Amino acid sequence: MKSIVVVGANLAGGRSVEALRQAGFDGRITLIGEEPWRPYERPPLSKEALWEPGKSAQKIFLHSEDWYHVNRVDLRLGARAVELDFSAGGVRLSDDELITAEKFLLATGARARLLPLSGADAPNVHHLRTKDQADALARELYPGARIVVIGMGVIGSEVAASAHKIGCEVFAVEPTHATMIRAVGERFGHWLAEKHRIKGIHVRFGVSPLALRQREGKVHAVELSNGESIDCDAVVVGIGIVPATELAAGAGLVVDNGIVVDRSSRTSHMNVFAAGDVASQPGFFGGRVRLETYQNATDQASVAAQAMLGKTVEYFKPAWFWSDQYDLNIQGVGRLDNSLSIVVRGDLESDDFSAFFLNGHVVEGVLTVNRAFEMGVGKRLVERRISVDPGALADSSTELRDLLKVRSDAA
Ligand code: ADP
Repeated sequence: MKSIVVVGANLAGGRSVEALRQAGFDGRITLIGEEPWRPYERPPLSKEALWEPGKSAQKIFLHSEDWYHVNRVDLRLGARAVELDFSAGGVRLSDDELITAEKFLLATGARARLLPLSGADAPNVHHLRTKDQADALARELYPGARIVVIGMGVIGSEVAASAHKIGCEVFAVEPTHATMIRAVGERFGHWLAEKHRIKGIHVRFGVSPLALRQREGKVHAVELSNGESIDCDAVVVGIGIVPATELAAGAGLVVDNGIVVDRSSRTSHMNVFAAGDVASQPGFFGGRVRLETYQNATDQASVAAQAMLGKTVEYFKPAWFWSDQYDLNIQGVGRLDNSLSIVVRGDLESDDFSAFFLNGHVVEGVLTVNRAFEMGVGKRLVERRISVDPGALADSSTELRDLLKVRSDAA
């Protein structure tokens, strides 16, 4: 094979070209990115990029500019791929240029879901997904600024914490009754919601935004379903993302809430692979899942790279994520689902605990709060579907590591 095109100059795209060279691929690599930036990391965009934008800007890129020259990666930035044209054997860019290749990796990612209200495109209404969007938001966060955060998922919660750190007066509007439910489940979603409230975020749960009131082209107030109207300087919307599947769908690939791939990241077309936020893959607990995590983008991209080179590889892992808010480092792996039974080790009151989500005796999920050191074992418990004695797990004198041993002794 002589040439590979990767569409999407993001984390998955950047890691895939790195993996291709590491695996010894010597052919032509083209990395196409719509944004003007070489691949960068997104986790800082809702954190450091907001509270110390200058410093963060230096640090977010995956590789130096030079790396792409040294590794002979033809980086095509500010270029939009509009068609995957199999009959012409390549990807067509918006200026009609055709870039041919034998294999293709679609790491097209996702876009921020737009708030479905009139005024959502006003310059002081921010959707946060890209570096440029983070830079624009950072300019509006200053001490005393009144900020309304709509959606208290992962992005909304992190932005609320960052805006609070900067000294803004933060209002948070969330239609459910808790924070980050998709990521941490309901019980700990309520726990986290309380943390935001105690910190001084003006939280409005069970409430939806109904209208954005505008004056001179800017939104100056948000009207809520509880009849309240909140005056504001800026609005931040964090209501989820929509996978960018147009290129795949246009080429006739199977798409179902993401580009459908197998465990080797191969799509329904044998020469096309997909990785990262856009890929819908076989779920560790069955069904199909689309994972919006850093680890997934990195690991799946590496597997896709090797699979493109003809290696037999599989990616089949429970999702792992982390989030930093205030003085909380929150990490989760697997299913953090309220339908499972929950065993807590440590101290909830002092924000120093781990929670284990059990299906019968099998550990299917682990949440750690300020206990990153327990996540290594936590991941292994979930990945290996280890059965534990709930009593021993709850007993803080039991070494977590020993729970791994029990299983291997028994096996
Ligand atoms: P993200 O990664 O963008 O934070 P999540 O799925 O973690 O996405 O969270 C999205 C949050 O936005 C959820 O808490 C959800 O209840 C909330 N949400 C979804 N749609 C709306 C909407 N139209 N208005 C307000 N909040 C919404």
